[in-house]
Amino acid sequence: MIDLRSDTVTKPSAEMIASLSGADFRNNIGDDVYGEDNLTKIFEHEVAELLGKESALFVPSGTMANQLSIKVHTHDGDEVILESDAHIFNYESAAAGVLSRVQLRTVQGEKGILKAEQISDAIRPAAYWYPQTKLVCLENTHNRAGGTVYPLEEIEKISALCRERNLKLHLDGARLWNACAATGIPPKAYAQHFDTVAVCFSKGLGAPAGSAIVGSKSDIAIAHRHRKMWGGGMRQTGVLTAMAQVALACNFPKLKEDHAKAKVIAGAFAAHPKFEIDLASVQTNIVAVDVSASGKSEDDVISFFKSRGILIASIKRNFIRLVTHLDISREDAATVASAVQTF
Ligand SMILES: *Cc1c(COP(=O)(O)O)cnc(C)c1O
Repeated sequence: MIDLRSDTVTKPSAEMIASLSGADFRNNIGDDVYGEDNLTKIFEHEVAELLGKESALFVPSGTMANQLSIKVHTHDGDEVILESDAHIFNYESAAAGVLSRVQLRTVQGEKGILKAEQISDAIRPAAYWYPQTKLVCLENTHNRAGGTVYPLEEIEKISALCRERNLKLHLDGARLWNACAATGIPPKAYAQHFDTVAVCFSKGLGAPAGSAIVGSKSDIAIAHRHRKMWGGGMRQTGVLTAMAQVALACNFPKLKEDHAKAKVIAGAFAAHPKFEIDLASVQTNIVAVDVSASGKSEDDVISFFKSRGILIASIKRNFIRLVTHLDISREDAATVASAVQTF
């Protein structure tokens, strides 16, 4: 099967597995709840450096990374501004309402991108009967918009606005690595504009599990306490961080290949009269295709490809999503392109 449902379906590589043995591994792994896992400490330090922040915290998932960041920046009854298709709003089981008791205020963007003026318009006035706007969350790359990259100039404007209006700014950077690969902009250059950034190692990088939050020492200390409270304190996390370290070192430089494979697949859909695709949105490793002109439901289209050994997911009504990753070869991408032609 050629599995294009997500870039999370990758299997750990031989190098990742190999990192789990040897004297160095045995000497450094320990109980991270006791703060004794050196592999994790070293990795957290490396991630903080890469993103130009004081501290990093390794967490089980991207969802926990985002939700801990919301917890750090808000109090009960505060309001958070984010884009309507944001992962935090759509795919995190209403966690912000339950865990941080905040209200999410969505604003419709263009390809997942909110402009500074739109955010400015959504900030509440000061009267006590309004919720208090505390936090803005951006997403880069934007998952539901099809892997689109947030323009750095807009981030700069939003960051300036947030500082001026005394708001915190968080980045859901589950696929920040892809934005960096597409633009050549280093992670730090994005991260400097945010108070906290969440990154995933289990998306394009291919680690089996794990994410991180980076930010100031004091913010990460608060997140650390809540990670434990929410059941995310894990013991020998070196098993995961050793693999994540290999994933980051080996696979971050390879992400451009995923983007090239996505372009091959996108081109085939664009050439087919029954599919519609906005090629300008295919900026990274995600291909979102409108199937409404095919006269079939997205489920029927997905079944067609499944019968040809290709797994695809639906993202919303009439839209299918294909995501390239490490375990999809150039040949696989060509096979998918041929299958599109036979539709
Ligand atoms: C996948 C994803 C997450 C959440 O990651 P999990 O590890 O699945 O909880 C958060 N944000 C974005 C943009 C994502 O694509």
